[in-house]
Amino acid sequence: MRRRLVCIAVLVLIALSTAETQATSVAEIVDQVTLPEYLSYMRVLTGIDSVTPTKPFQYLENRYSLGDDIHVAAQWIQGKFDSFGLDTTLDTFDPNYGPNVIGELRGRTRPDDIYIIGAHYDTYHAGDQLHAPGCDDNASGTGAVLIAGSVLSQYEFDATIRFVAFSGEEQWMVGSLAYAAAAQAAGENIRGMINYDMFLHPSFDNVDPDPDYDLDIAYEDNSQLLAQVLATQFSLHTSIDVEFHNDPNDVSDQWSFWQYGYSAAGIFENTVNEIWGGSNDAYHQLTDTMGNPDYDWDFAIEAVRGGTASLASLAGLYVIPEPASIALVGTLMSGLLIVLRRHRSKV
Ligand SMILES: [Zn+2]
Repeated sequence: MRRRLVCIAVLVLIALSTAETQATSVAEIVDQVTLPEYLSYMRVLTGIDSVTPTKPFQYLENRYSLGDDIHVAAQWIQGKFDSFGLDTTLDTFDPNYGPNVIGELRGRTRPDDIYIIGAHYDTYHAGDQLHAPGCDDNASGTGAVLIAGSVLSQYEFDATIRFVAFSGEEQWMVGSLAYAAAAQAAGENIRGMINYDMFLHPSFDNVDPDPDYDLDIAYEDNSQLLAQVLATQFSLHTSIDVEFHNDPNDVSDQWSFWQYGYSAAGIFENTVNEIWGGSNDAYHQLTDTMGNPDYDWDFAIEAVRGGTASLASLAGLYVIPEPASIALVGTLMSGLLIVLRRHRSKV
């Protein structure tokens, strides 16, 4: 009887020490998603800082899918993914367009299970395509993908995580549709895709006081489990309000994954109908810059933290036992042996 009790005690302690390690690590991951690093990516994408660290300096004027600068942006994003130690590829789905840029962190125990964090990096300007800062739409999402890659690449996960910057979104999700179609044709087991597209401006320009200062997350029937994970992780790791919408017509790159049967969710400042209806007056305008006074950077970094925590949770942190836990287990095991020996000598 005593032997059974001691065994149970040891198992409970091992479980507790493992759970402690994992919980601490997800919180640690979220803490590393910082505003200064996020802003540093946004400054390059919106043309404030040079894509090259030394002379000759080069500044992005736009990231129009069918232009020249998008190829410069693609090279820069790929360079960042490389610097994080990810396996990178350029997906030239159509030579007329800038490529999709992919960075992969291969899973340790179930590498065929794939989770994706994605965002389109191309811009659209209603006037002409030569100048488009595209800050909210969608340097905000591209920056989220970059900082998630920077932080998560410092850890190992059970499943594979892919970080993807999509092109051609503004021409009706051309890049992500090509990507999801190819993934389905290859039989890839994409278990969840999280898409970021515009989340700097949670308030409405045309309503004061704003009644709905929250993040809006779109999902559809096949993505309910993913939505539940997002709801849990946002409530655990962020301070912002999140509203979920089951809307298969909320179009951005997550919509492309829905078309091919994959579970996906889109993270936005407002629903697509609200954005198209004028909730952000800088949408597709030259005023979509980092200096826009309506943009809420504290809100934005919380939005990025929630998705990063969700991704870490879904992919499963690969827990390497810490020396302290090993020592604890060793002490407990030797204690157990002493108890067993005494017990046996009595019998
Ligand atoms: Zn967009």
